[in-house]
Amino acid sequence: MTTTRFAPSPTGYIHVGNLRTALMNYLIARKAGGTFILRIDDTDPERSKEEYVDAIKQDLEWLGLHWDKVERQSDRLDRYAEAADKLREMGRFYEAFETPTELDLKRKKQLNMGKPPVYDRAALNLSDAEKDALRAERGNGVWRFKLDHERIEWNDGILGDISIDAASVSDPVLIRGDGQVLYTIASVVDDTEMGVTDVVRGSDHVTNTATQIQIIEALGGNCPRFAHHSLLTGPQGEALSKRLGTLALRDLREQGVQPMALLSLMARLGSSDPVELRSDMAELIEGFDVNRFGAAPTKFDVQDLFPLTAKHLQSLPLADVADAVTDAGVPAELAEPFWAMARENITTLADLKGWWELCRDGAEPLIADEDREFIAEAIALLPDGPFDGETWGTWTKAVKEATGRKGKGLFMPLRKALTGMERGPEMAALLPLLQVIRARG
Ligand code: GLU
Repeated sequence: MTTTRFAPSPTGYIHVGNLRTALMNYLIARKAGGTFILRIDDTDPERSKEEYVDAIKQDLEWLGLHWDKVERQSDRLDRYAEAADKLREMGRFYEAFETPTELDLKRKKQLNMGKPPVYDRAALNLSDAEKDALRAERGNGVWRFKLDHERIEWNDGILGDISIDAASVSDPVLIRGDGQVLYTIASVVDDTEMGVTDVVRGSDHVTNTATQIQIIEALGGNCPRFAHHSLLTGPQGEALSKRLGTLALRDLREQGVQPMALLSLMARLGSSDPVELRSDMAELIEGFDVNRFGAAPTKFDVQDLFPLTAKHLQSLPLADVADAVTDAGVPAELAEPFWAMARENITTLADLKGWWELCRDGAEPLIADEDREFIAEAIALLPDGPFDGETWGTWTKAVKEATGRKGKGLFMPLRKALTGMERGPEMAALLPLLQVIRARG
């Protein structure tokens, strides 16, 4: 059965880059009728925070990316220790004692000699006595996985055929000197034991994948299918990594971005299919295919989310936005006509408040000198209430007959006098909602 996972480290809020990963994994699982696991990668006790775990769940729930299971790496440390023992027994795991400064120096030397900065495996030559001495002097060493120096190959769901020479990669550290288990092995153990069949993640993980394939094989697990999506850049192709902090999902939510807008964009951006606003999750699932994504960096412009949000809102019935309409101050009896009037004139739900204020308080009229008399005459012709959708038509017809004005010369001064603006909602829909005029009518 298809099983995927989204595996954030709870060291911060999740952003659009993480969402891309979460969404792709979610859609693959749902399309196949499989399982979607939320895996919290919290093996780093110093940087992992409970508040971020809660925030990640909140953000995913807001988007409707519901998970079937939550797993926490901090609950599974014994499993990782067992896997480490296994690697040790197989002779694929070795302790190394170089300090970061020493490693740095080695790297610099290699680079100076025009060689790739790959760990030289000096620790493999240490005798037991030397190791004891180093341990006594420096404390426990780190544990490195001994890669087999052969080519590591896989068919990537996005990047196509990949072939990496293991000799060009350093033996990865899987356990730190202080005993902390690192993501590289924890992830492999989890993916294997949880039956993960498909892993989609950012292309910054390609080298990890190469080493993880060898670890999976060493531990006798099955390799999942891998796909690495390209990294997001800003609209001009500039690196987004520094700005991702400002593109946290909670910030977008704050700014009024609608989940469907965000999901619709992220499910297509960087693929060969056009971005289309989808009306619900079922449509997103139906239209998703990870193989249609390309390897090139993907341009992301936060501004694209607003037209999609506006379009989504336009499509919604009152029932879906009732709380926002109430919060804007609209009385229950006017909610239906108010929403019908406002929905095509908002970018986010936050704009409702302004339209309600216009309805409730009126606006500072915009009246050109040459229109003063005309407006006075028109106001005098306002029919008696109650106003409805026909009132604007009846009234402007009467004004036209009385004043001889027509077209723009008739309608624009009235709109400006009533709303203080040159553009806005259909006047026929707005007029019955203008409380000041209603009172007069
Ligand atoms: N915790 C890892 C990360 O945030 C997970 C990567 C993966 O999907 O394997 O990058």
